[in-house]
Amino acid sequence: MSADAAGAALYPAGRLAQVAAASRAAGLDALLLTPGPDLRYVTGYDARQLERLTCLAVPAQGEGDPFLLVPRLELAAAQASPAASLGVEMVPWRETEDPFGMVRDRLGALGSAGLSDRMWALHVLQFRAAFPQAAQRLASAVLSPLRMRKTGAEVGALREAGEAIDRVHARMPRWLRAGRTEREVGANIAEAILAEGHAQVDFVIVGSGPNAASPHHDLSGRVLAEGDVVVVDIGGTMPSGYCSDCTRTYAIGRPPAGFEAYYEVLRTAQDAACDAVRPGVAAQDIDRAARDIIAKAGYGEAFIHRTGHGIGLESHEDPYIVEGNRTRLEPGMAFSVEPGIYPGPHGARIEDIVVCTGDGVARLNNAARELVIV
Ligand code: ZN
Ligand code: ZN
Ligand code: ZN
Repeated sequence: MSADAAGAALYPAGRLAQVAAASRAAGLDALLLTPGPDLRYVTGYDARQLERLTCLAVPAQGEGDPFLLVPRLELAAAQASPAASLGVEMVPWRETEDPFGMVRDRLGALGSAGLSDRMWALHVLQFRAAFPQAAQRLASAVLSPLRMRKTGAEVGALREAGEAIDRVHARMPRWLRAGRTEREVGANIAEAILAEGHAQVDFVIVGSGPNAASPHHDLSGRVLAEGDVVVVDIGGTMPSGYCSDCTRTYAIGRPPAGFEAYYEVLRTAQDAACDAVRPGVAAQDIDRAARDIIAKAGYGEAFIHRTGHGIGLESHEDPYIVEGNRTRLEPGMAFSVEPGIYPGPHGARIEDIVVCTGDGVARLNNAARELVIV
């Protein structure tokens, strides 16, 4: 498939009308989307977030046509983006004009507006002033149910991201050496994330020794030593806009006493949670599948975070795999399954991205899950 055809499959032209209909169904008069994953989802436009307002206004179905307000100096970039092929009107504004007033003049008074979740307060408050009567809601009320149910093209993009990050993990053994710092290893990883096809590095966690017990440790000057356990959690964004996220745990030489016993518990729990994924199962039941096994083995107190998060244009999005989330899984829902056990002074996590299929589950990460001793 050509890049254009792949782009059209990922960001179909019919999505604008679908979003307008969903806004009407949600009782919102319009959506106001500034740069970020919501705008990209609807138009394919990967716009920069700036103090100058770029905003896609999508009136609810039957309330008028959508338009994209752009700073005059961003117009060429907007026209070069996939948004140009959607037939949406682009409205440039000059430095001396009031872009919020321009949006209000075109939309008229609104009773309610959905604002993209990542809109800056700088813009939220100016929209409040421009539409004093409008109730402000989160656009995710409309967009999250759509974004959560991935199309075949989106699953394909996530699969590509998963394969790219698997290739980075495959190269890990040559970088994890006693005497090197976490930061040196992190630099190798960041370079490889780009070399393996990502457009951007989102995060690089190399938690060695005691740092392995801190789930969101990032990088430090700690020097790796023989006998260390190392949790490596890495991810990036592909040119498609879709993200990768994968964790493996490594040992440099012989791991500490007691480690292998709980690593096996973790591996069993991660497998059980993945195997529990199928349509109709509640998100919280995937969390329970992992947590029950870890708790029964006596490590419940050491599993200190939810089992997973949705992934797509953002590396953390709906559905969250956590107790209390009764969302029923449907084909096309993609999320991480990443239980961890952190008893200290070391810890372990195994993370795969999975997608719910018509009758079960597909894993999008496939690097070996056995403890890799380097
Ligand atoms: Zn995390
Ligand atoms: Zn991760
Ligand atoms: Zn994750």
